[in-house]
Amino acid sequence: MIFGFGKSREEDDDVEEEIEPVSFQGALNGQPANLKENARLVKAGLMPAKNIVTDGLALRAELMRFEPKGERYQVVFYVDGVANPGPKLSKQQGLAVVQVVKLLSGLNIQERKRPQSGGILAELEGVSYQLRVSTAPAEGGERLSIKAINVKYPLDRADDIGITEENKERIREMSKGRHGLILISGPPSSGTTTTTFGVVRSVDAYQYTIFALAEPEHRELSHIATLDKKAGDTFDDELRRIIRMEADIIYLNPVTDEEYVRSILNVADEISMIAEISAKDSVSGLIKFCKLAGSVEKGVGALRCVIGHKLIRTLCDQCKEAFRPNPKLIEKMGLPKSTKMLYRPPRQTVDEEGNEIEPCEKCDGLGYYGRTLMMEIIEMTDEMKQLIISGAEPGKIKAFAKKEGMPTFQKDGIRLVAEGKVSLDELQKVFKSP
Ligand SMILES: [Zn+2]
Repeated sequence: MIFGFGKSREEDDDVEEEIEPVSFQGALNGQPANLKENARLVKAGLMPAKNIVTDGLALRAELMRFEPKGERYQVVFYVDGVANPGPKLSKQQGLAVVQVVKLLSGLNIQERKRPQSGGILAELEGVSYQLRVSTAPAEGGERLSIKAINVKYPLDRADDIGITEENKERIREMSKGRHGLILISGPPSSGTTTTTFGVVRSVDAYQYTIFALAEPEHRELSHIATLDKKAGDTFDDELRRIIRMEADIIYLNPVTDEEYVRSILNVADEISMIAEISAKDSVSGLIKFCKLAGSVEKGVGALRCVIGHKLIRTLCDQCKEAFRPNPKLIEKMGLPKSTKMLYRPPRQTVDEEGNEIEPCEKCDGLGYYGRTLMMEIIEMTDEMKQLIISGAEPGKIKAFAKKEGMPTFQKDGIRLVAEGKVSLDELQKVFKSP
């Protein structure tokens, strides 16, 4: 039983190793939580909230969801993007947990009809976390999500998230020369902001002056300048001020509307910019940007490249199992001919004597641990611009990028499989999902 409500995850009775539950250390907005005045609520909800969050963090869940379902509250833990059912609570207990988490996050516990967001600073076994909390009304109660961010090791250094040296080099090339926008496109909640930050981090901050207008949230902005906001300054004014300061690159807030894009177009030949856009994939992001720009010509004219990203689960290095692949499979997948071994999650559950093998401690027997990034880059070469302006279909744009040797998901995925970091099954799953 994995979800032991904060108890040890060892099933052995003798070595019941209790882990200290998470400690909540205050709301991110600094609002003090009035626990005394809400003693009844705290009594009903605090311990279950602590135990569930402890279990979630111990499992490395990046997201915990609490959803009212009929007479119960269902908890779901997302580990490396995969949903794992957590405990079911009674409705009453679920409502109490939601209210207590709101109280600790400095949110208004009287308000249940409108979405709210906030957060809690927390610590578990010496590791600090930011728990970003959001609530939304749902049938039969309120939905609660808690996003957990490891404060010391946020996954936003270019190396950590898996941007290859080759791709970093391309990004560096395209951020030179003070012109054009590097656009990073991905669906909501797919880690686009993290990828965008990785792209910003790929730029040589010692050689170039980088300014950030985007909110860094929890991210470390060392070597990146921020602008002192002046009251009454518009976005255009801020861009102008940064350009006057001889900046090379600006890290912008996400691209949202026409007015915002108009401001970007105005300065596109004076400064390099990096921003994200919410769209299904790179080509959809490109099309969306061109629509906001008012025409395809204007849109592609302001772009240096569009970057798409996908996260893929990596094999657990403690328990992955090597196997010799069939040469036909190597050829079919386009793997390098020199590939001798591939890796997969362990298949054996019993040893030679028929005794059950203990699941791997590192990954809890999942076979996977963490995720890495696959990247595709559509560079706006003159030929590419012409192709897009001529109204080419997304498939044609992608095929042309591949032909020109631009980075593709396929290339990145095959590399990860050949390096033994990713299983073939997982790669196929990622390509099948929309
Ligand atoms: Zn493992």
